[in-house]
Amino acid sequence: MNNIGFQDTERLMSTSAISEDNDNENSLRPKSLDDYIGQEKLKDNLNIYLQAAKMRGEPLDHILLYGPPGLGKTTLAGVIANEMGVNIRVTSGPAIEKPGDLAALLTNLEEGDVLFIDEIHRMSRQVEEVLYPALEDFALDIIIGKGPSAQSIRINLPKFTLIGATTRAGQMSSPLRDRFGVILKLEMYSDDELSKIITRSAGILNIECEHDGALALAKCSRGTPRVANRLLRRVRDFAQVKGNGIIDLDIAKESLKRMDIDELGLDNLDRTLMKAIINMYSGGPVGLETLAAAIGEESVTLEDVCEPYLMQLGFLSRTPRGRIVTNLAYQHLNIKNPNAQNDVIQQSFDD
Ligand code: ADP
Repeated sequence: MNNIGFQDTERLMSTSAISEDNDNENSLRPKSLDDYIGQEKLKDNLNIYLQAAKMRGEPLDHILLYGPPGLGKTTLAGVIANEMGVNIRVTSGPAIEKPGDLAALLTNLEEGDVLFIDEIHRMSRQVEEVLYPALEDFALDIIIGKGPSAQSIRINLPKFTLIGATTRAGQMSSPLRDRFGVILKLEMYSDDELSKIITRSAGILNIECEHDGALALAKCSRGTPRVANRLLRRVRDFAQVKGNGIIDLDIAKESLKRMDIDELGLDNLDRTLMKAIINMYSGGPVGLETLAAAIGEESVTLEDVCEPYLMQLGFLSRTPRGRIVTNLAYQHLNIKNPNAQNDVIQQSFDD
């Protein structure tokens, strides 16, 4: 760790929250809390923390944001830095391979800066150890030399705010989680909020989108702004080629049908997952890894992308013995549930 001055910090971070994304995604990110749609309760509290920190002239306490992908964690980190009027440095847990990498990042920060670490649950334990004194005392403990002559020296760091983002708060070690002063959970968005996000994005991308069309897309966006923006871009293509360029209810419905997205926003992968549990494992329980292998998908994709929404719809549940589909899933897929009767009896028993 004594070579921190020579670390390649460019490899580890970027100076804006959005530089890794393409320009479109970039331009769609709200910059201020007022433009950030939804998450009202979270925003109310955050606003107070921001005002209090500004009144005291101090950096914000460290913040942990958690929730499924695409709900706006990276965007919110950018908004926070912007509201505080400070720079944001962006990196991710897997990019910080060695303690020296983290030391290089930290020593390059300026007073008040925000350091954003995406996928913070994927940081190694060794790197985490370096982070603890940095978070608590704004200091780095560095060991120079080896054996009996080894010396520990302490380097003071500028006061900074760490914003960590994770889709798996449960996978973080508790010492790390406990060092965040503010823990904020992002919730899935309502159809109304998603429709506002779609209308806002359509305005930025110069797409004419009628209210009905926006609402139809919102309903199929799985509670997730990233999905909403992606659908908007795809439906724009259909509107241009098949229609008059305007996204109305008809073109929205037709495009969604062509993309095999049903009225709840489920796509082929969601349906394949549920059908595999039903047809191959009699409705479950089945372990995640077995299921992923059976349908040829990565288990993380199933866990992060499909499952949160299927569970929110009440189509899937996670049990200690594995995943099971519910009667609602059978109904949605129009498949007769041989256990339906038992389900009802079991449910009334549980009640
Ligand atoms: P995460 O970091 O949680 O995976 P992002 O912050 O990258 O999600 O958000 C994905 C996309 O959704 C961004 O392009 C952003 O424009 C949009 N978005 C997310 N949250 C909001 C919001 N509250 N209001 C408007 N757009 C949003």
